[in-house]
Amino acid sequence: MKSHYRVVVIGGGIVGTSVLYHLAKAGWTDIALIERAELTAGSTWHAAAGFHAINDDPNIAALQTYTIKLYEEIEAESGQSVGMHMPGGYSLATTPERWEWLKSEFCVYQTLGIDARLASPEQIVADCPIVDPKGLLGGLFDPHEGAVDPHGTTHAFAISARKRGAEVILRNRVTALEPLPDGHWRVITEQGPVIAEHVVNAGGLWARRVGLMAGVNLPLTPMQHHYLVTEDLPELLAMNEEMPCVTDLEGFTYLQQERKGVLLGVYERNPKHWHTEGAPWDYGMDLIPEEIDRIAPELTIGFSRFPTLERAGIRRWVNGAFTFTPDGNPLVGPVPGLRNFWAACGCMGGFSQGGAIGRVLASWMVEGDPGTDIFGMDVARYGSFASNDEYLREMTAQFYSRRFIIAYPNEELWAGRPLKTTPAYDAQAALGARFGVVHGMETPQYFASGDPAFEEKPSLRRSNADRFVAAEVAATRNAAGLLDTGVYARYEVSGPGARSWLDGLLASRLPSPGRLRLAPMLNPRGRLMGDLSVTCLSPDRYWIVGSYYLQTWHLRWFNDHLPSSGVRIDNLSESWLGFSLSGPRSREILARLTNEDVSNAALPFMGCRVMDVGSTQALVARLSLTGELGYEINVPAAQQRVLWGSLLEAGRDLGIAPIGMRAQDSLRLEKGYGVWSLEFSSSVSPFACGLDRFIDFDKGEFIGREAALRERELPPTQRLVLLAIDSPEADVTGHEPVRRGDRRVGYVTSGAYGHHVRQSLALAYLDVDALEADAPLGVDVIGTSRPARWLREPPYDPAATLLRS
Ligand SMILES: Cc1cc2nc3c(=O)[nH]c(=O)nc-3n(C[C@H](O)[C@H](O)[C@H](O)COP(=O)(O)OP(=O)(O)OC[C@H]3O[C@@H](n4cnc5c(N)ncnc54)[C@H](O)[C@@H]3O)c2cc1C
Repeated sequence: MKSHYRVVVIGGGIVGTSVLYHLAKAGWTDIALIERAELTAGSTWHAAAGFHAINDDPNIAALQTYTIKLYEEIEAESGQSVGMHMPGGYSLATTPERWEWLKSEFCVYQTLGIDARLASPEQIVADCPIVDPKGLLGGLFDPHEGAVDPHGTTHAFAISARKRGAEVILRNRVTALEPLPDGHWRVITEQGPVIAEHVVNAGGLWARRVGLMAGVNLPLTPMQHHYLVTEDLPELLAMNEEMPCVTDLEGFTYLQQERKGVLLGVYERNPKHWHTEGAPWDYGMDLIPEEIDRIAPELTIGFSRFPTLERAGIRRWVNGAFTFTPDGNPLVGPVPGLRNFWAACGCMGGFSQGGAIGRVLASWMVEGDPGTDIFGMDVARYGSFASNDEYLREMTAQFYSRRFIIAYPNEELWAGRPLKTTPAYDAQAALGARFGVVHGMETPQYFASGDPAFEEKPSLRRSNADRFVAAEVAATRNAAGLLDTGVYARYEVSGPGARSWLDGLLASRLPSPGRLRLAPMLNPRGRLMGDLSVTCLSPDRYWIVGSYYLQTWHLRWFNDHLPSSGVRIDNLSESWLGFSLSGPRSREILARLTNEDVSNAALPFMGCRVMDVGSTQALVARLSLTGELGYEINVPAAQQRVLWGSLLEAGRDLGIAPIGMRAQDSLRLEKGYGVWSLEFSSSVSPFACGLDRFIDFDKGEFIGREAALRERELPPTQRLVLLAIDSPEADVTGHEPVRRGDRRVGYVTSGAYGHHVRQSLALAYLDVDALEADAPLGVDVIGTSRPARWLREPPYDPAATLLRS
């Protein structure tokens, strides 16, 4: 071991070795992996090591595809077999709902470029003779499913990394981490101290403990997981080919061939945590005693789907632990609040994702950018609230137990809730609010007004709650809607350097005092980092408003670019709240609560003012996402409850209605407005999504200007457009393919029913040449192609006169 390395990777599991390999491949060779025991000594050695390309998040699906393709490469480079088997795999449908869901997933996979196919029960049984076809309706076959040898694969990464100059140091526990004033780390190990410019936490089962050494409590925890391996089965002995893997979604089990027997794994509905704080330091390569009684209900279903198992001998039981995060995705990237400390942990699918985590992290460390939109696995997608033990336990148990359960688009899950509520929460609940959750914050989805006993049914089709949403849309279009904006993040930027700093950070021109602007923020690749609004309160005081759930992510970006003096940024997201009041009567309502002149001349579109509103003192900005005349009214959190009551009271005789996010979605789609994470993301070019019109190339330097200028010369190949879909009973939710004839010409980003225009609507990225041809389009809605057409202008108020009225 040397005294100094550019990077020390802590942990020699599948993830740590992949990080080491990718760093070495990217040219950083003064690097070392330090491992407490032997390579694979955490979760890795006893993993079932199955892999698949499929993931709900298309960006993660693409990265999983990368991981799978990499196996051949590292086997060749290292000369070490990875024990690759890729017979493909079936997901079974044994209920009509599941079959419908699989058919709709099949369409989404086409968007993701995964060449899956639907299969009949006969086909499944022909390929997998141990499957009992009773009640089987069909299945989805993914050709990229299989398994590797966890030991061989980990060593293949390590050998390849060593060949490129990296060091692997075994039997040497890291016992402490000390930050140094220059941003480097003193890494204390059993074999002595070492200085590292960067530290990567790939500590797997111990990653929470390793994080705490650096002063950060990461939201991850180990949980137990069982599988069994059988003796040889006669059906498999009779087969020449390897049998495809099988996941019995309604049975909570997955199965893969192992030699001439099978490995059957269980995602039980009664899961169990294991050392929430991280594995004990003296935990060896041991198994946890199996708890067969706890998994018996799922095993019973598993044995009835695969009856031959009842007669099979069990060669071994495995009960091991691996780590889960609240949403089941890993924690990757620079840890907010720390310098040069990187996360590569919380990974429950090391053999689908380990390769990609290594590539993304190495790109981030070497190039300063992960290279693609990885928000779904970014360590900064969580705030510190997510590391609370109780929250973590509830969320991870919910994720684990629902691993194979259908996730309906209109379904709200209840783990870890309520955690954060705005002061108006109880008053909203009393009016029938049904809440969703964003980054821990309860936020009304709709108000079941006048029907306290109403129960929403989870469905792929239009929800039975739509009558409430329709009424909220009507109220907004005809009178006024009042939406809680607790889902906004608010930041104040102040100081003598505030204006010039913001000018370099944001791609838009900055507003003058009393005005606001929509402000795209770019990264050096010219891709979006935010669709913010910036408000100028005075020449050295600004507000930035963005998405509440992005606050840790955005603050990391802001702080990374903050100069050492002259600018201060305060996160007001928990201390300021407010409402969006919009609709034709909204000015009248506001005027009833203030002595200020709120006429169009005095407070025009994109104007802002600090004013009294009822008994509160508010920052009022004139804009809306509904397409109506509207105001965003922001107040200190303690005044939000009073403001809620004042606004409702003032608008009562004018027809005001409290509205939720579902109505907002319907309203924004009628205007064709995109939102972050659906239409806009860090993999999207501002020219493709239309945000380029807010970029001011003439103002001088700003982050991403050069890349955006280059991109301006190349017309985008796809464009964000609004579609009308003829679909009588369901709307699209995202990622569905759009076709022209047989050709896939794009994909949907979001959809909703436009209750005012009475039309199913979707935003979609479409190939530009498909638009030029102006031919009829088709969109897959729950697996069935529906006619669609491009709307050249939004169906509601295309000239945007109401917004400016
Ligand atoms: C029963 C079971 C079945 C599974 N099945 C699958 C499957 O089919 N497919 C799949 O993709 N995944 C599966 N997994 C999950 C998979 O094993 C994990 O996703 C993966 O192993 C995580 O790898 P890792 O490198 O992040 O962590 P780990 O394998 O836990 O490695 C972390 C390493 O860090 C070292 N370390 C920790 N702290 C220190 C320190 N302070 N100093 C030095 N070294 C340290 C540890 O000794 C360990 O070697 C399964 C896991 C189990 C237990």
